[in-house]
Amino acid sequence: MRPGVGEPLRACTGCPGPEYSGAPDCARCRGLVDAVLEEEWRAFLLREGLPDGPEVAALVAEEPQRYDWRVVDAALERLVCEGCAGPLGRGPAGCAPCALAHGFRYAAVETDRPGAAPGNEHAVRVNVSVVRRPQGVPEREVLLRRLWLPWLMTGVLPTTERAQAAKARTRGMGLAEIGALFPRVLDAPGFTLP
Ligand SMILES: [Zn+2]
Ligand SMILES: [Zn+2]
Repeated sequence: MRPGVGEPLRACTGCPGPEYSGAPDCARCRGLVDAVLEEEWRAFLLREGLPDGPEVAALVAEEPQRYDWRVVDAALERLVCEGCAGPLGRGPAGCAPCALAHGFRYAAVETDRPGAAPGNEHAVRVNVSVVRRPQGVPEREVLLRRLWLPWLMTGVLPTTERAQAAKARTRGMGLAEIGALFPRVLDAPGFTLP
């Protein structure tokens, strides 16, 4: 399901942009983003011969530094927050247990895929994390991370200069104007913003 390194972007059938760029609003993109975690979670359970459920999830969440980030994020999804009663780590900005779990998740292991730019997997996980929990992140930043995500999924990593140039270009734009860029990412491969 997750695109391989170097694969071209695909148009989403649920929103005007490429696949992965529409979450959290586009249900199809949201499902694709969630599948990044769920696929690895199922592979992990199969490898370890473990049952799915909150018991295994709690063990993983206790030692995030021992597991792949996708396994940790999928585990948190299976735990109920005692503060907000939602999935742990995804609650509203003011929920303390969620904020704590959200911070801890970054201790998890990130392994670049063969052929991907070094540091690509970290960028993928940060952007996935932001689109799955946009609370407290400025809307402009969420939009930019959504624009980048389909490209990151293909294994690329923008240089700092390129990322800063994209930020500078969009600084004077309104949110609607940035939103209008999404279909253009598909129209023009190598479009200069991402
Ligand atoms: Zn979509
Ligand atoms: Zn919470």
